[in-house]
Amino acid sequence: MEFNALVVEKDEETNVTSSEVKKISLSDLPEGDVLVNVEYSNVNYKDGLCIGPGAGLVKTYPHVPGIDFAGTVETSQNDNYQKGDQVILTGWRVGEVVWGGYSQKARVKSSQLVKMPKNMTTKEAMTMGTAGFSAMLAIIRLEEMGLSKENGEVLVTGATGGVGSVATVVLSNLGYEVVTVSGKSSSSEYLKSLGSKRIIDRSELNELIKRPLESASWAGCIDTVGGNTLSRLIGQLKYGASVAVVGNAGGNNLSASAIPFMLRGVNMLGIDSAMQPYENRVKIWERLNKDFPKSFFESITEVVSLSDLPRVGKEILDGKIKGRLVVDVNL
Ligand code: NDP
Repeated sequence: MEFNALVVEKDEETNVTSSEVKKISLSDLPEGDVLVNVEYSNVNYKDGLCIGPGAGLVKTYPHVPGIDFAGTVETSQNDNYQKGDQVILTGWRVGEVVWGGYSQKARVKSSQLVKMPKNMTTKEAMTMGTAGFSAMLAIIRLEEMGLSKENGEVLVTGATGGVGSVATVVLSNLGYEVVTVSGKSSSSEYLKSLGSKRIIDRSELNELIKRPLESASWAGCIDTVGGNTLSRLIGQLKYGASVAVVGNAGGNNLSASAIPFMLRGVNMLGIDSAMQPYENRVKIWERLNKDFPKSFFESITEVVSLSDLPRVGKEILDGKIKGRLVVDVNL
């Protein structure tokens, strides 16, 4: 029996990759103890890398990308999962080193799955996807470090992106004063509709300055940009505040001073969504179910098909995507 998947291939002579929707069969899928009928996946920054040249993430070709998916169990050799269970997979380098969710069927390890929270649909789960999962993980880490509404404004960078959009919605729904940073001047209405109280232009934060300390402004921060922006933010955190370091859309290198850590007791929190243990995954999905209002699902989402992926994979790397792209693999 054949089904559709987005297959990336590499020309060994030229090293150029290309991707297109192809028919594959069950015997092509990797080993695993659960076979899932995938319903939805979505497009994250990392997916853009894996649809394209791979940036070293993809080790072998042909490859099926898609770092997350939600669907229904078709067969299972594990007692925790039965035919008909709705499941979610994020992380574990699925879609990078093994085949992922841009396929109508995926075979995976049961240990990588979580069951769908009650009253959440597979489409809603993938509207949030890895981006939402990472945003929620960052919020939980900030809460653990004492983030409190009384301490003032919380900053979200790369705010029109997937992580930034979900972080803005959840934080504002929880009652925080959210300030967003964006390079898309045309998106201020969008950001306000997500709950942003104030918008800062990206250019105000992406140049380094000599002063190690600036005005203490932020009670907490979720940073998806890295590089100069993260370097600047560290010197703008309030006393004892933390920045959750989620992404590097603007660069990897840090040029930060040690002074804010010593004089203001600020903290940098590393956020890794891929290898979170099972208990944390369940907790994060339960929190998304509770704290992400369903009314936002439509407004932040565009639905695309498997055949749209080569185009939108490039657009996400160019920083052109606003909100979340959900992939309906049966479209
Ligand atoms: P998106 O592409 O959806 O969002 C990134 C946003 O960053 C863009 O929309 C844009 O927002 C901003 N941006 C893009 N390029 C630049 C630039 N050169 N300088 C400054 N800002 C820029 O990606 P995701 O939201 O899916 O992911 C965001 C980051 O988080 C990525 O680096 C990704 O790899 C990382 N990530 C990390 C995870 C983890 O586990 N640590 C999990 C998921 C993602 P705007 O125009 O509004 O400024």
